[in-house]
Amino acid sequence: MTQRTDVVVIGGGQAGLAAGYHLRRLGVEHVILDAQTTPGGAWQHTWDSLSLFSPARYSSLPGRLMPVQPGRTYPDAAHVVDYLADYEKRYGLPVQRGVRVCAVHRDGAFLRVRTDCGDWRARAVIGATGTWTRPFLPAVPGRREFTGRQLHTVQYRSPNEFAGQRVIVVGGGNSAAQIAADLAHARIDLTWVTRRTPRYLADDIDGRALFDAATARRRALDEGRADTGGVASLGDIVAVPPVRAARDAGLLNPKPMFSRLTAAGVEWADTTAAEVDAVIWCTGFRPALAPFAALHLRGSRGRVATDGTRAVDEPRLHLLGHGDWTGPASATLIGVGRPAREAARQIRDLLA
Ligand code: FAD
Repeated sequence: MTQRTDVVVIGGGQAGLAAGYHLRRLGVEHVILDAQTTPGGAWQHTWDSLSLFSPARYSSLPGRLMPVQPGRTYPDAAHVVDYLADYEKRYGLPVQRGVRVCAVHRDGAFLRVRTDCGDWRARAVIGATGTWTRPFLPAVPGRREFTGRQLHTVQYRSPNEFAGQRVIVVGGGNSAAQIAADLAHARIDLTWVTRRTPRYLADDIDGRALFDAATARRRALDEGRADTGGVASLGDIVAVPPVRAARDAGLLNPKPMFSRLTAAGVEWADTTAAEVDAVIWCTGFRPALAPFAALHLRGSRGRVATDGTRAVDEPRLHLLGHGDWTGPASATLIGVGRPAREAARQIRDLLA
């Protein structure tokens, strides 16, 4: 059976909910389809101790401030899950859970959205599928030879499961720094490796400044001025309290990236070696764009060419929440509101 609506939003994480909020305000009929059975998007799949980059008030979706989490300046992931669950209930957003979108096809004046629970026919689609379903692992020699455990950021939960083990954390970003700090505080035998020397943001800079930097960069580029460098110019790692404490206690001592894995561990270019029990790859994610493959929109670097959030070669499709290429800071709670509003307005105009 094929169901009909004006707009299908694919993904019920923060980006999909922000889109739903603005579509609802504009009176645009829509449905939000999410593969997971419970609310919270990617925040359900983080490690237990994750700290947000920003205080609660600066981590809010449109319309509703995130409440302060008692005893914490920087909320944890469970607090965000509660906030998102409350948000969708409060605004009565039409989220259908446990529905996986397999593909989006052109169907004359419509887009056909194929799911594992039947098809939808829509006049526009918003892709808010995030990244957590596509963990990225770099091609490092010997990865198949290693007999220990390998896991990605998305599978790490807490240091408890590594008691008595020797662990290598790979990566120079926030996930790596937070997970390394988590292990270091628990006195796990830790080696942290990075491709280049970790770049901490100044201790008094957090997600608020990141949002401002991303916005200033977009404005400069839109006005034809020189690239300000955006967020990347400030550093890679927000020194949230647990990271700062581990660093200042001398528990985080990064080494250069190893050149290969062996059966028992890792080896550096100068042939020094270390035996390890587990490697945690904190090496990022890629956008989950598989449902849009049949539209043949792929641009460079695994992305889709967009003008704001609108796909250049398919104006009925908007992509939301993937980072600066779909709006400044759009991969953040505070940053996704503005591009979501713009996408909803453009879709309302298209439908009219
Ligand atoms: P997601 O939350 O991934 O939601 C996408 C949803 O779409 C998921 O529910 C998924 O199951 C569903 N989906 C995917 N494919 C399909 C399909 N084919 N069919 C149906 N459903 C589908 N962000 C902040 O804003 N502030 C912070 O302070 C912050 N701190 C962070 C700290 C760390 C250490 C890390 C690693 C991340 C942090 N983030 C922070 C980033 C944040 O976790 C993600 O960027 C955010 O969750 C992305 O939201 P989203 O809605 O785009 O995607």
